[in-house]
Amino acid sequence: MPILAALPIYSALSVALTVGIVVSAVKSQRTFFDIVIQLTASKLNLVIFLNCLVVVLTNAASLMIYVFFGSVRSVESKFLIDKCQKKVFQFLLLTVVLRNSIDIYKVMSLIVILSIWMLHWLASKRTKGLVGEENRDKSVHARLLLLFAGLTALDALVSYIFAVQFYKHGTKMSDIYIMVGFEFGRLLLKAVEDNFKYQVSLFELSYREQWLEKKFVFNCVSLVFDSGDFLINMKLFLFIVSRGALPIYILSEIVDNLTRLAQSGHALYKWRQFIYKLKKLKDVRSSAEDGEGSQLQCCICLGDIVTGKQLSCSHVFHLVCLRSWLIEKVECPTCRKPIQLDKQPQPAAERRRRAAGLERRIQQERRLHIRNAGGLAGADPGN
Ligand SMILES: [Zn+2]
Ligand SMILES: [Zn+2]
Repeated sequence: MPILAALPIYSALSVALTVGIVVSAVKSQRTFFDIVIQLTASKLNLVIFLNCLVVVLTNAASLMIYVFFGSVRSVESKFLIDKCQKKVFQFLLLTVVLRNSIDIYKVMSLIVILSIWMLHWLASKRTKGLVGEENRDKSVHARLLLLFAGLTALDALVSYIFAVQFYKHGTKMSDIYIMVGFEFGRLLLKAVEDNFKYQVSLFELSYREQWLEKKFVFNCVSLVFDSGDFLINMKLFLFIVSRGALPIYILSEIVDNLTRLAQSGHALYKWRQFIYKLKKLKDVRSSAEDGEGSQLQCCICLGDIVTGKQLSCSHVFHLVCLRSWLIEKVECPTCRKPIQLDKQPQPAAERRRRAAGLERRIQQERRLHIRNAGGLAGADPGN
C-alpha cells in the first residue's frame, strides 16, 4: 500500500513546511500585521498554505470517516465521486462568472465547502443503506446520529452568521462568499431532512413494525425540502443576476431542483393512488368464522392472518406485508402473477375449485412419477 504509507509522510512534510515559513516570518517581523503581510505577499507561500489546507482536510476527513463510518463502501465511494464531479464542474463554471475575482482564498473556501458536502452525502447514503439492510447495531446508529447533530449545528451556525452579515451589507460582499453562505443554507436543509428521515426510520426499525404511510410522508417531506432548496437557488440566482452577471452554474442546480420537485410530486401522487387501491382490496378474516375452516397464513412473514387483504389471484396477506412487498415487486409473492390492484378477487367457490384442480394435477404427476420410477426399475433389473 504505497499510497497509504505516502499520505502520512506527505502530510508531515507539508505541515512542517507551513510551520517553517510561519516561524521564519514570526522571527523576522515584529508586529502581527507585518507577519500576516509577509506571509501572504508571496504567491509561493499561498500555495504552501493551500497545500497544507488540503492535507489537513484530507486527514480530518479520514479521521471523521474512521470515527463515524468505519470505512467507505464501494457503492458509497461511487456515489461520492459522482456527486463531487458534478460539484467541481459547478465550481469551474463559477470561475467563469467570477473571472476577475477568483483568488486562492476563494479556492480554499470552495475546497472546504466541498469537503463538508462530501460528509453530508456520505451520511445520507450510509443511513439509507443501514435502514435498507435493517441494521440494528446501536453503536453504529449512535455515531451517525452524533454526526448528524454536529453537521446540523455547524450548518445552522454558519447559515445564521451569514444571514446576519448578508442582511447588513449584502451588496458589499463578494459573490463567492455569498455563494458559500447560500451553500450552507442548502447544507442545513439537507442535514435536517436526512436527519428527520433517518430518525423516523430508526423508530420504525426499533419497533419492528412498518408504518404504512411512511413513504407517503417521506415524499411530502422531500417535496417541502426540495422546494426550500429551489427557493434558495432562485434567490441566489436573482441576486447575482442583479449584479450584472449570469451564474450558469446555478442554472444547472435549478434544473435539478425542478426535476426533483416533479419527481417527488409524481411519486406522491402515485403512492397516494397505490395506498388507496391497497386499502380498497377485499378484507379477509381468518379462522372458522367465515366458514372456510382453516387458519390463513401470510407467506411473506409466515405469521397467521387475523385480517388480511386478498389480491386478484385470491391469495391473502397482511396489509403491511403486502405494502412492503409491493414496493419491491408488483407480483403476487405466492403465485408470481402480476398484481392488478383494480381487479376484484375471484369468488371463493371458484378459488376452491381451482385449488381442487391443482391438487388433482399434483396427484396425477406424483402417480406418473412413481409409475416411471417403477418402469425404469423393471427395465433394468440387473442393477
Ligand atoms: Zn404477513
Ligand atoms: Zn397469488
